[in-house]
Amino acid sequence: MFEGTVFGKLDQKLQHAITDAGYSAPTPIQAQAMPRLLEGRDLIGIAQTGTGKTAAFMLPILNRLIKVRRPRHIGHPRALVLSPTRELAAQTAENIRLYAKYADIPFACLIGGVSQFGQVKDIKRGAETFVACPGRLIDLMTQGIAYLDQVECFVLDEADRMLDMGFLPDIRRIMSKLPSARQSLFFSATMSPEIAKLAGELVRDPVKIEISPEAPAVEKINQRVMLVAKPDKDALLVHLLKTHPEWTRVIVFSKMRHGADRVCRKLARAEIQCAAIHSDKSQGQRTRALDGFRRGQVRVLVATDIASRGIDVPDVSCVINMELPLETESYIHRIGRTARAGESGAAISFVTAEERGQLKAVERLIRKSIPVDRDQPYHSEGAERSTGKQGEGLPQAPWIRHGGGGPHARDRRRKSFKGRRQPDFGQKRKDA
Ligand code: AMP
Repeated sequence: MFEGTVFGKLDQKLQHAITDAGYSAPTPIQAQAMPRLLEGRDLIGIAQTGTGKTAAFMLPILNRLIKVRRPRHIGHPRALVLSPTRELAAQTAENIRLYAKYADIPFACLIGGVSQFGQVKDIKRGAETFVACPGRLIDLMTQGIAYLDQVECFVLDEADRMLDMGFLPDIRRIMSKLPSARQSLFFSATMSPEIAKLAGELVRDPVKIEISPEAPAVEKINQRVMLVAKPDKDALLVHLLKTHPEWTRVIVFSKMRHGADRVCRKLARAEIQCAAIHSDKSQGQRTRALDGFRRGQVRVLVATDIASRGIDVPDVSCVINMELPLETESYIHRIGRTARAGESGAAISFVTAEERGQLKAVERLIRKSIPVDRDQPYHSEGAERSTGKQGEGLPQAPWIRHGGGGPHARDRRRKSFKGRRQPDFGQKRKDA
């Protein structure tokens, strides 16, 4: 079925499942990591969500569980994937369900914020793989329900996020319970000295693979900034959503939880279906919001960075950043929501004069200047001066329709172009 690619080395049951999922060829991280993982090597992967990394580690693990059968010991999994957030854990579990649909490989997804009842039931049914957040796993270990002494494959996913969230002591505790003969996989989007140290404690003679942030997924995203004064941001968001009915699935990022709630209230008032996901929301609320978004009943999902990790929804038309993230790397995670494997997308960031530092940091990270889109009614010349974006040639964004723009749009547009060269579509920006 997949002759000539690493997918061809997988058990037929997995090949059937990934064919059903519509995968026709491995992504770069899969092509590089999977052959080594199938050989049983340890791995350090610098890669982020959106690159196909879940399949890169889960397919070789499932392959091993299918090929090397062992009697099941209740509560003693053979594979353990640790995830920093409930959403990422749930997403990984979804992938397992997808890939293992023709194989009898039961799993359990162990996350906090919901009753442990169903999870314990899954463990008692003989789950061979646990996908878990550290807190709930330790809880179940303490209760004598989960034991890690038979783990053959261990995955630490999004290690940088784990450390940001203060999970290091929990991770160390979990690692101390793992058998020393095991395969270990370590994934992180970034590699600070602290993260490298943790990786060093976990893996033996690892293969190292780095899929850079400038990977094609981000390259394909149509990125724009809109310069705006802070009090106008909500109105600009409503304006964009009203004038672009064709954006059927939009993710709006807000730095703060209360900001996300405020944006949601504004959108609801403008009769735009929306839902917020952030850490103050219960697991049930988050799951309902995500399901509604997936099914197309919720048009706009308003998320904070942490809650957004692992959101994997195809066909996201556009990502809008109400503020640029303080943590620059998050920019790539955020906009990556709109260009899942093989698709392209659009990302708009609202930037105020005060956010010029964050804008510079993001541009340094992606190693290019993000074009300004002035074709909107709330364009702020103050922010334009402050960010040093004056005079940058402005192509009309392809997704902005003419004629819209609210009561003062034309005036403001005329004003903003006055005395300046008209934008030249083919012209190279000075700093490009
Ligand atoms: P991940 O980086 O694991 O979050 O994966 C990002 C998205 O890419 C998910 O929707 C996967 O289902 C999808 N995906 C992973 N591998 C492939 C592939 N080889 N071909 C097409 N889509 C894929």
